Amino acid sequence: MATVPALLTPTGSAPAALATDGRFGDYGGRFVPEALVPACEEVERAFTDAWADPRFRRDLDRLLAVHAGRPTALTPAWRLSAELGVTVLLKREDLAHTGSHKINNVLGQALLARRMGRGRLLAETGAGQHGVATATAAALLGLRATVYMGERDIERQALNVYRMEVLGAEVVPVRTGSRTLKDATSEALRAWVSCADEAHYCLGSVMGPHPYPTMVREFQRVIGDEARAQCARELPTAVPDHVVACVGGGSNAAGTFAGFLGTGARLVGVEAAGGAAITHGRPGTLHGFRSYVLQDEHGQVGEAHSVAAGLDYPGVGPEHAHLADTGRVHYTTVGDDEVLAAVHRLARTEGIICALESAHAVAWVLRAATSGELPRGCTVLVTLSGRGDKDIATLMAARDGAGDVR
Ligand SMILES: *Cc1c(COP(=O)(O)O)cnc(C)c1O
Repeated sequence: MATVPALLTPTGSAPAALATDGRFGDYGGRFVPEALVPACEEVERAFTDAWADPRFRRDLDRLLAVHAGRPTALTPAWRLSAELGVTVLLKREDLAHTGSHKINNVLGQALLARRMGRGRLLAETGAGQHGVATATAAALLGLRATVYMGERDIERQALNVYRMEVLGAEVVPVRTGSRTLKDATSEALRAWVSCADEAHYCLGSVMGPHPYPTMVREFQRVIGDEARAQCARELPTAVPDHVVACVGGGSNAAGTFAGFLGTGARLVGVEAAGGAAITHGRPGTLHGFRSYVLQDEHGQVGEAHSVAAGLDYPGVGPEHAHLADTGRVHYTTVGDDEVLAAVHRLARTEGIICALESAHAVAWVLRAATSGELPRGCTVLVTLSGRGDKDIATLMAARDGAGDVR
């Protein structure tokens, strides 16, 4: 019988250990119930150990290559660039397996779960991309997956719910609060308390208690590292003048920025106008970490409302809060109408239907090129965090003028 080469491999030299206390200026930390402290500490130890282990790195790199399809392309947006008078380069996370950057983080955490001897993954999901990625990684590595999803998101992202079920995951509807990502995250954290010895909580963005914001950024750094090397080959200046990414929890942006923080590039994070924790929020604590949070005058956590389900989160990763305070990254917002227009513009100029989330970054480029904030002749790297297949029903509803397409 022919043998299939082993999926995972052995040995090499050690990468530098990652020392962090999980604080980003005034933000981050680990604000969890007593019962979850040991579980978080165990994830921290396991991740620190794994990240310094060349075998773990090699196994992850291999899965990213042979399963997820990395490296993803860097595509010059030829016709859009000509129309705008600026050079636009697209980092194509929409081409990663399962259709978004989420798979980068999930393959890392699924490998970690195996290393910790956990047989099950718990996850929260909003638009369903993280749930689909988690169900995928679980199938690949022979783990079980339970995905918590708000009832409202289950209705508007039916395609992704069914994808998860086909992949063998259990989808648990969350009926509390706004029945979206915030509530699904609370429920997943609650569930973890009762099964932390057999399940790993596979969190989907750079948020939550330490070590998640750091760990997820490290798993997503592959976006920025690849893009940096690709820009060096593509651009005479090697580094683009501007680097733009959309910000929900902030993982695709954190991964992208990680590759460019040490350069002179101007970094821009684009929030949804209806879910802009940095632009409209105040410091507060949510889901185990301190950061900017949308809240009312009594400190009640507010609700986010965006056409993009993946950006419907009232908080933002703590590192972004710090990067906003220090001014290293400029954060701004775009509205639903600009986002819908951006999806269509990119589709018709470049033949790419991007996710509504990603279209926030594109929308900012369109606006900034028109206003002169992006001078003629400059170069802009835009991370396309995902593909738009999941959003086709929303686009159709918007075309047909349905009142609430959110
Ligand atoms: C989940 C998701 C986002 C938002 O999450 P971040 O952690 O901010 O990256 C953005 N785009 C797509 C396609 C997503 O699936």
